[in-house]
Amino acid sequence: MKKFLSISLIIISIFILVACNANFKFKENLTLYNLNISYDEQMNKLECETNVDYVNKSDNTLDVLKFHLYPNAFRENAKASVVSLANVAKAYPNGKSYGNIEIKSVTISEKKVEYAVNGEDENILEVPLFNNLYPNDRVQIKMNFTVNLANINHRLGYGENAINVCNFYPIACVYEDGEFVCDLYNSNGDPFYSDVADYTVTITMPKDYVLASSGKQVESFENEQNMTYKIKANCVRDFGFVMSKKFKIKTQNYANRVDINYYYLNDDIAEETMSLIENSLAFFEKKIGLYPYDSISVVQTNFVHGGMEYPNMVLVSDDVKDYETYRIVIVHELCHQWWYGVVGNNQFDYGWIDEGLTEFCTTYFFENHSQYGRSMENMIRAATFSYTTFMKVYSDVQGEVDTSMNRALDEFNTEPEYVYNTYVKGMLMFSTVYELVGNKKFDKALQYYYETNLYENVNPVDVIKCFSKATGKNLENLFNSYLEGKVKIIAK
Ligand SMILES: [Zn+2]
Repeated sequence: MKKFLSISLIIISIFILVACNANFKFKENLTLYNLNISYDEQMNKLECETNVDYVNKSDNTLDVLKFHLYPNAFRENAKASVVSLANVAKAYPNGKSYGNIEIKSVTISEKKVEYAVNGEDENILEVPLFNNLYPNDRVQIKMNFTVNLANINHRLGYGENAINVCNFYPIACVYEDGEFVCDLYNSNGDPFYSDVADYTVTITMPKDYVLASSGKQVESFENEQNMTYKIKANCVRDFGFVMSKKFKIKTQNYANRVDINYYYLNDDIAEETMSLIENSLAFFEKKIGLYPYDSISVVQTNFVHGGMEYPNMVLVSDDVKDYETYRIVIVHELCHQWWYGVVGNNQFDYGWIDEGLTEFCTTYFFENHSQYGRSMENMIRAATFSYTTFMKVYSDVQGEVDTSMNRALDEFNTEPEYVYNTYVKGMLMFSTVYELVGNKKFDKALQYYYETNLYENVNPVDVIKCFSKATGKNLENLFNSYLEGKVKIIAK
């Protein structure tokens, strides 16, 4: 009887798993990036070729395509700054250093295209098309380019321990409401916005480097000096990688579906970190929904901020010295695989959507893992206290303070103003919803919001609608009182 029961349970769980996977099927007919990258160690640059098989998913006919050139924010005399003044010394330990992207050629069907590097800050590549691109039609564009790396502890650049190569290639601007969304780089937040796409990437580098990346390595080749890795990443909204000669690696399989890779420089309790990663995946899968990819890499690297999320890969700064904070950063960044990775949003215009919900879900994780010594109540109380203290000090110095949240990154006056209104207040806003509707309805809302918006980009209206519908409560006024800065937050 017991045996029969357990066999039945196994069959039921397999059925549930298959059913779940079926619901989380990747989107098809996506834009495909075929990237070929070669790292030149002597010159600190990347020689690259990309073949973009772009599909017009809009209802409009296009005669031009636009791509973001994020590496140009790192060049000398750039209008945009990649770090706030307060972080300059930490980002550039060896003094100012510059990088950029040089577009060498753009061709369509072997014919040279008269492309232009435009935008307010040489941040946009415009590719005029020879023929109109009708809805659902495709065009294949080949680009050759060089990325020169700055000596900076940032998303793109080389540091003492590792080389971070993220936001490095021309990535298609999202086409929305009849136009391409083009934004300048900003030192606040993550100034990125993209659609999901399929990636096939080959990276060649000297043999003594270890590679961590988005996606999964499917092949590797070697010659006397170099290793070449072939990587596939499907239905993801970006691709990034990190190289280091100093990485130690731990790997583990999670639920027979996901390879966990932990690349670290210094971690005396790497085993415990691995268990934290596994616990995070399990918790977010249980509360939100299935992680639909087959790999996740956590990468400890030189990085000016605490951490940063990319599809299937998160960066954690080697400058986070105390393990308590390190733990929070890992959980936060992993949660971004759900909020940013699978459910995307315009991070330039509405940073609170992914950051606020990610901060709250991080608190939710600790509430359900008492072994880490944190409770939701304590974390919310600490956040409320720090928010009210910051606002008091800030208003004493600056006079009136704008506490609205629906602002683009360049509309926040300072980095702390952005952080407190996006992360801290965002977390407090979702915690108010949680308290109001209770954990069961809140979980239902997380799942509904996730499943409804898989691989899509959402806006504030979508968030409010989903949470209202799933909880059976009209939450429009509650959300808007926070977003518009009308709510009064009082320290408990
Ligand atoms: Zn975040």
